Amino acid sequence: MQRLRELSRRVEAVYGEIADTFSGYQQASGLNCRSSCGECCTQPTIEATVLEMLPLALHLFDQGKAEQTLTQLEEFPEASGCFFYHRLSFDGKQGQCSVYQQRPSICRVFGAAGYRDKIGKASLSVCKIIKQDRAEKYQQHLIMLTEQPPPMMMTAKEQVNQLDYDLGSKHYPINQAMFLALEKVLFKAYYSNFTDDQQIA
Ligand code: SF4
Repeated sequence: MQRLRELSRRVEAVYGEIADTFSGYQQASGLNCRSSCGECCTQPTIEATVLEMLPLALHLFDQGKAEQTLTQLEEFPEASGCFFYHRLSFDGKQGQCSVYQQRPSICRVFGAAGYRDKIGKASLSVCKIIKQDRAEKYQQHLIMLTEQPPPMMMTAKEQVNQLDYDLGSKHYPINQAMFLALEKVLFKAYYSNFTDDQQIA
């Protein structure tokens, strides 16, 4: 358990850097999300590694919610998107993240970020809603790609996932990655010495 907690602290340290870098770019470029828009959180295609979900799994464990969340995740329909998204409108487009502080890497870089296309050329990935809202700014930033390169999505994800090969090398649908991270934490907790855990916490 001590190793998982130390690993989680290292993941969180990188999360701090990623959040600053990507939100800084999105604010400065004007390619930022609509207020209360959560459409991306409703997509069943969001993927994360078990490592990316580790801070959240430990947070839920510390709150005594790990087993309950595991059971709820088992029954949660994958097509509904992320389990942690709180819908505030009937169509689900308005909503908020209920675990914002512990959200995984993908949620920190999504919106507007750099990526490499099939031939390795740097390009700009922008959410379709931001593209609609800020079409002119999007075009400007495509033109200025070389002078003002956006932070690269994969570099940020690799910064996290390289911290642990076993937990960071495979991507799963986000709810499944959460399930596996909770299983890992509960398994370690079960076999850990209770007194040692209390000293570490
Ligand atoms: S963790 Fe939060 S930001 Fe990420 S997909 Fe789920 S609800 Fe959205």
